[in-house]
Amino acid sequence: MMSSVTVSAKTELINLLDFDRKGLQDFFVGISEKPFRATQLLKWIYQEDVADFDQMTNLSKGLRVYLNEHCTITPPEMLVEQVASDGTRKWAIEMSCGNRVESVFIPEEKRGTLCVSSQIGCALACTFCSTARQGFNRNLSVSEIIGQLYVAQKRLGQETKITNVVMMGMGEPLLNFDNVVAAMNLMMDDFTFGLSKRRVTISTSGIVPAMNRLNEASDVSMAVSLHAANDDLRNELVPINLKYPLDELMEACREYAKQGPRRHITFEYVMLDGVNDSVQDARQLVKLLKDVPSKINLIPFNPFPNSNYLCSSSEAILRFKKVLYKAGVVTTIRKTRGEDIDAACGQLVGKVKDKSRRYLKLQKMEDSHVAY
Ligand code: SAH
Repeated sequence: MMSSVTVSAKTELINLLDFDRKGLQDFFVGISEKPFRATQLLKWIYQEDVADFDQMTNLSKGLRVYLNEHCTITPPEMLVEQVASDGTRKWAIEMSCGNRVESVFIPEEKRGTLCVSSQIGCALACTFCSTARQGFNRNLSVSEIIGQLYVAQKRLGQETKITNVVMMGMGEPLLNFDNVVAAMNLMMDDFTFGLSKRRVTISTSGIVPAMNRLNEASDVSMAVSLHAANDDLRNELVPINLKYPLDELMEACREYAKQGPRRHITFEYVMLDGVNDSVQDARQLVKLLKDVPSKINLIPFNPFPNSNYLCSSSEAILRFKKVLYKAGVVTTIRKTRGEDIDAACGQLVGKVKDKSRRYLKLQKMEDSHVAY
C-alpha cells in the first residue's frame, strides 16, 4: 500500500520507512528496478540494521547512487526514556517541531509488548482519558508508526525481543487508517519483525465503517474500547457512540469475528467507581455480548490530574468479574503497569500542539455531545 510519504522539507528526500512491501515494490518499479529489491531493502533496514545505502552490497552501484541522492532511512528520534519500578519503559518520541508521542514497552515473563501511538493527540473526547485532554495535531506517517517499533527494538537490544504490538497508545488508529494498516503490514512482514497476526492488535473506540474496511484489508486482532453496555452511558463516556451506537458496533464486531474460526474480539472495559461497575452493568454486558465471540479485559481506571473519576474498588471489580465468569465470558483484569511513570492506559500525553483547540471548545460547551 502506498501511503502518505514523509518528505523532509530541507532535503526533499523520500523516507523509505514510509513504505510497506507493496509500497516499496511500486517505488522500485517506478524507478525501473525489479520488485524483488523491496525484499532486499526490507532485510537491510529491519534485519541487518543498516541504514547506509553504501553498505547494501547486493544493490547495484547505480541503484545505491540513486538512493543516496533521493532517499533516506530516518526513524523518529527517541528523546526521553523513563523506567518504572516494574520494568515498564516509556519513551517520548519526537515527531515534528514541538510534538512528541509516547510509546510504552511492557516486559512480561514470556512476552514483551510495545504499545504504539497512531496520532499526535486524539480528536475523540473520551471523558476518562488524558490523551483526549491534549487535543489533536495530526496523523502519524507510516515511518513514524513503524519507527516507534524500530527505535524501541534498537534501544532494547537483541536480548529483549518485542513479541507483541498493541495499537493502544495515543490516538484513534482507525482514524489514521491507511498509515496504520501499512505499518501493521510491515510489522508482520517476514523480512522485518515477522510478528504474527495474533500478536498485533488494533484497539478502537468503535469507528464502525473503518472496522468493516479493516476486515477487508487486514487480519490483525481487534480490541474494542467498550466501557459501557448501554447507549446512554456510552454516549457520555465515549462520545463517538453518538455517531456509531452499540447495535451498529456489535454488528461490526460480529462481522469481524466471523473471519476466522479462532477470531474473537477483546472488549476493553475501564472500571469507574459508581459509574459502570454495578452488578446490573455486568449483567447488561453479558447480554450485549451474548452472540459475539469475545474476551473481556477489565481495566482498573488510571487516574490523572482533574480526571473527575475514581477507580472502582477491588471488591467491585471482582464482583463484576464474577458475574461475567458465571455467564461463561472469558474475563481478565488488566494488571496496571508503569503507573509510577504515568505509562499506564489512558495516561499517555506526549507533547501535543493542539490544532483543533477541541478541549477548550469542549470545556466551553455545556453538552460535549454537540461535537458529534
Ligand atoms: N483510541 C483507541 C486506542 C487507545 S487504547 C481506543 O479507544 O481503543 C487505550 C485504552 O485505554 C482504551 O481502551 C482506552 O479507553 C483506555 N483508557 C483510556 N484512558 C484510561 C484511563 N484513564 N484508565 C484506564 N484505561 C484508560
